Amino acid sequence: MARAKNIAETVPKLARIWRRFWPYTRKQLHIVVGSVFAVTIQVFMRLLEPWPLKFIFDGVIFQNLNMRGFPLAGAFVQSIVGSMTPLTLLTVSVVALVVIVGIRAITWYYANVGFAIIGTRVTTEIQNDLYQHVQRLPLSFHTKARGGDLIVRIIADISMIREVVVTAALPLFASIFALVAMFVVMFWLNSTLAFVSLIVLPLFWLSTRRIMPDITETSRRQRTKQSAIASTASESIGAIQVVQALSLEDRFLDDFRSENKANLGIEVRGARLAARLERSLDVFIALGMSLVLYFGTQFVLSGALTPGDLLVFVAYLRTAYRPFQDFAKYTSRLAKAAAAGERVIDVMDRTPDIRDRPDAVPAPLLRGEVRFEHVTFAYEPGHPVLSDVSIHVTPGQLVVLVGPSGIGKSTVASLLLRLYDPQAGQVTFDGQDIRRFKIESLRQQLSVVLQDTLLFHATARENIAFGAPNADPKEIEACARLANAHEFIMALPLGYDTVFGERGVTLSRGQRQRIAIARAAIRKAPILILDEPTTGLDEENERAIFEALGRLALGRTTFLITHDLRQAVRANLIIYLDGGRVDEAGTHAELLRKDGRYAALWRLQEAGITEPREELADAPAS
Ligand code: ADP
Repeated sequence: MARAKNIAETVPKLARIWRRFWPYTRKQLHIVVGSVFAVTIQVFMRLLEPWPLKFIFDGVIFQNLNMRGFPLAGAFVQSIVGSMTPLTLLTVSVVALVVIVGIRAITWYYANVGFAIIGTRVTTEIQNDLYQHVQRLPLSFHTKARGGDLIVRIIADISMIREVVVTAALPLFASIFALVAMFVVMFWLNSTLAFVSLIVLPLFWLSTRRIMPDITETSRRQRTKQSAIASTASESIGAIQVVQALSLEDRFLDDFRSENKANLGIEVRGARLAARLERSLDVFIALGMSLVLYFGTQFVLSGALTPGDLLVFVAYLRTAYRPFQDFAKYTSRLAKAAAAGERVIDVMDRTPDIRDRPDAVPAPLLRGEVRFEHVTFAYEPGHPVLSDVSIHVTPGQLVVLVGPSGIGKSTVASLLLRLYDPQAGQVTFDGQDIRRFKIESLRQQLSVVLQDTLLFHATARENIAFGAPNADPKEIEACARLANAHEFIMALPLGYDTVFGERGVTLSRGQRQRIAIARAAIRKAPILILDEPTTGLDEENERAIFEALGRLALGRTTFLITHDLRQAVRANLIIYLDGGRVDEAGTHAELLRKDGRYAALWRLQEAGITEPREELADAPAS
């Protein structure tokens, strides 16, 4: 029962892969048609290949060639061959053999190249689409997915599909084609013998059916395991600084080793299963061949077949059994490719939950008025992070968000960027629900400086210009000056042309933040989001950064998330978030007068307690 279920499950899976990938293949239809044509000729040549041997055996050696009984062109062939001397027939036969094999080789070459082109083009296109798709999937997907696993899907799974399409699918397709053609000819030659040769087919089927589900399952587990290995490696290498600082190398190595060991077991099991299938098929083939020889020889002795016919028959049988051998040989690779295909489709079928509405319009140049209107938002259903939050910010205002750690301040920033949509209420810019705008045009009007800044492996100039790809060098320099970054950039070996090392290891955090400010400045966006931009920086850097941020914020609606209340003093609006709600809102003076939580917190900070996160959490209730 379980096996039948496995097979029943496999077919829809393959159908799903086919449905998803066929549109890509259809675009290469002309090459598909050309390659199939080449395969057809190649199969036809394979059909012809044993015939010269028959003519040599029956016509030259036994001098007893009789083609009259053959349907189709039998009499015609007989009349031509009958007029030749044995030596001529021998010469024609051997020349024909070379010509046939020559044509077969040439058509096979074209079919190979054709399939390689199709496989490579199709998989490259799928790869591009997959990468684009993954980039657009929402953060809710990415926070749960493992980066290494996605990379394996984009790189290794696609390569696996490519390799199999090119190296296994073509031979299998050609062999199945040949199988059908050859059985037709075999039935035509001698139907009894053809039936005899079919006796072993149920054995093929039974053994394949028994082992296949195991092979498929092993291949699937293998792909998953390889992903886990890649994820462990990419996570530890991506955070190598932390790994080394906390001496976690051995822990990660242990994880890596044990995952690798488990994978090894699965690999061996996969190889064992494939070998078992292959070898048992070898035995069945020998059995089929023996039966044909046994009965065939008797047919020859009784005169029902000529020795040449038996030769053709046996030669066909070898080829006709080939798909089964191929299938066994390629089965684990095909299963791996199917598993890989499924993993690719699983990602491709995920639809971004944040996407442009059908009626979305490009956002106009915004003035920067922002409203949260009764916004309720939860990452996980039933656990709202923000409940019924309303905020009104007029253009150019500085809003400071404060509140205990983990209370939802960054979530407010994510909602502004439309990384998530609220479950209730709406966020509006200039009075319009932001869901009315095309996402890209919306995000272009927001600049962001986060707690830590990722630099790309590119020059200083390019790293700044990522904020606005069309910026000219003068603008880039002006923004770098605004960000207090010009001087240190000029001190780099190649100035603005210096390429930053990966993950920005060549710059200090303070310097990276300045690059981020320059990057934000160059966008000239009306709304600015600063999420703890100076956390963990020394006093001097902090001052320089805040000075730069002050310049950047001029004339822009600015949301600043901070736990440093000194930054709140000049704010037009301070929002104290707690319990998913706006607990207090007002200017510094107003909130001090109110003498609530903010005021209590301010007094604590004034008293010189410099690590305010904990105090924020413990701030007394008003
Ligand atoms: P803050 O910025 O105030 O420190 P956040 O907005 O980052 O707080 O987080 C608010 C709450 O939402 C926290 O409990 C956090 O664990 C949770 N959270 C943040 N991001 C996600 C996410 N992507 N998926 C699920 N929960 C999240």
